Amino acid sequence: MEKILCWSGGKDSTALLIRQVEAGTPPHRILFADVGPEAEFDETYEFIEKVERTLNVQVEHIKSTRYTFDSYFYSPISRGHRKGMLRGFPPTASVGCSYRRELKVIPLCAAQGKGNEIYLGIAADEKHRAERSFYKTADNTYLFPLIEDGITEDMCLQICQKYDLVHPLYAYFKRLGCWQCPKQSLSSLRALYQNWPEKWQKLEQYQRDCAWDFQPNRSVFDLSERFRKEFHNEDR
Ligand code: SF4
Repeated sequence: MEKILCWSGGKDSTALLIRQVEAGTPPHRILFADVGPEAEFDETYEFIEKVERTLNVQVEHIKSTRYTFDSYFYSPISRGHRKGMLRGFPPTASVGCSYRRELKVIPLCAAQGKGNEIYLGIAADEKHRAERSFYKTADNTYLFPLIEDGITEDMCLQICQKYDLVHPLYAYFKRLGCWQCPKQSLSSLRALYQNWPEKWQKLEQYQRDCAWDFQPNRSVFDLSERFRKEFHNEDR
């Protein structure tokens, strides 16, 4: 039986990893769902290397064998009223995300195997996220040590700060994820526009290629216009 940590690079799973290393019981394997350079930031890859160096651990990059972000974006939808159209931006209305399923959940489940202990870094104040039926019926035993030990998100941040292992993208975003995500907040999108212009240009290209708006009644070009005006006014 292997002890496997699903590590996202976020503060909660990093705090869990630090606590495991500090206790002298590091996981046998650390799995990172790597969506690939099309959707990950360079900063994330640099951070992974820093975590490996600082904690003397090795992170496995788990990737989909079927899709990259772009190949999924440009693949045809197989059912429903949009059947045959390009998959495009994930819908903001649905709770789940097929990008998450295809690029993260399926590859991670395959890598986890069966009969293992899977450690997830869910903080005590996000307890509800551990209540998914999947965690009770799957082939592995899912464990949530941060919840058991009452470690909150703030405490996780402090643990990461102690080792200077706070993901650098927290300086720009409250939550980490694909930069193409239409569910992210306006402030995250503003940070993307301002700090990663080449990614923003790519987002505009996705919009040209997608039959529907990035967000309900709001295209990427609407956002570009809004931010351009905001930053133009700031400069005056
Ligand atoms: S960050 Fe957004 S697009 Fe990426 S997997 Fe999560 S919900 Fe889907």
